[in-house]
Amino acid sequence: MQAITVVPGDPDSASLGRIEEPRPKPGELLVETVRLGVCGTDREIVDGTHGEPPPGHERLILGHELLGRVREAPPPSRFERGDLVAGIVRRPDPVPCPCCAGGEWDMCRNGLYTERGIKARDGYGAELVTLEEDFAIPIEPALGELGVLTEPASVLAKAWEQIERIRARACAVHDRALITGAGPIGLLGALMAVQRGMETYVLDRAQGGIKPELVEALGAAYHTGSIEELCEEAEPDIIVECTGVAQLVVDAMRFTAPGAIVCLTGVAPKRSLTVDVGEINNEIVLENDVVFGSVNANRRHFEQAGNALARADRDWLGRLVTRRVPLERWSDALDKGDEDIKVVVEFAEIGS
Ligand code: BGC
Repeated sequence: MQAITVVPGDPDSASLGRIEEPRPKPGELLVETVRLGVCGTDREIVDGTHGEPPPGHERLILGHELLGRVREAPPPSRFERGDLVAGIVRRPDPVPCPCCAGGEWDMCRNGLYTERGIKARDGYGAELVTLEEDFAIPIEPALGELGVLTEPASVLAKAWEQIERIRARACAVHDRALITGAGPIGLLGALMAVQRGMETYVLDRAQGGIKPELVEALGAAYHTGSIEELCEEAEPDIIVECTGVAQLVVDAMRFTAPGAIVCLTGVAPKRSLTVDVGEINNEIVLENDVVFGSVNANRRHFEQAGNALARADRDWLGRLVTRRVPLERWSDALDKGDEDIKVVVEFAEIGS
């Protein structure tokens, strides 16, 4: 069978090639990959700046945004042949730390967690993969191909859950959200803001094309100007930063309303900026702001993501998948076009 593999650290190593079919261990499903979403993390791994192979291996099977179809579900199992599933990305560390022990591996304390397709564990970019039942998430059949959005949506479900917890401290209603970046993460973040009944603003550089349309179709407001102007006008009390762009990260902390919550979800290459740390400190202290980072997702967040996607307008969600690339041309999926939101690799027909 074919798989997309890479030698982490080697920028010229990613390729599609033949590998042996995996054999499920007890408690594991055998799953046919139907669609595989591609994101910035995959690009970083292919570029040689991120990723780690499984212990004792040179190559890593790439891919962590899985929509799969169960081929074998040895009884007793809550799954049946033909069921659509998404796969959780992270596995708890073996120690385990108190967070991993409690199923909150997204909050791992010792960094010894593994991640499929990213860190020390093979990913889902193969025609057949094994998936531990405990890390398989059932996908509503009506979602079909759009189930591939479950993993990126899980990252936002986690971010929003954390925001809700912090928001609980507030004495005033926090109901204005600003999302920076209208890529897949930003748009899914905006969807979840709108689903919470928030007045939602999205900031991106794109002047035209599909991004403003998608934001407006959500009932949110699209802006391309400066974050400072937008914050003056909208006074957001929640900012979900989805770009990792250094200047935006800094500005997100500077221009918030009193008591604001700033959630950082992007990662970016090292970047030096000259900033007045005193000013930022004073802004955060004197206004009781909270700035926090959020990464990954546990099972609860994948389930929340599934619910959010199921409640979303199907046509709107469908427009997020802007390009489908056949497996043979998988590397085309890594090229990011201006009009791309989510690009997916097609491994198998959805209904076969
Ligand atoms: C994935 C997360 C993962 C993070 C860091 C993201 O692309 O969605 O699950 O924790 O990369 O490896």
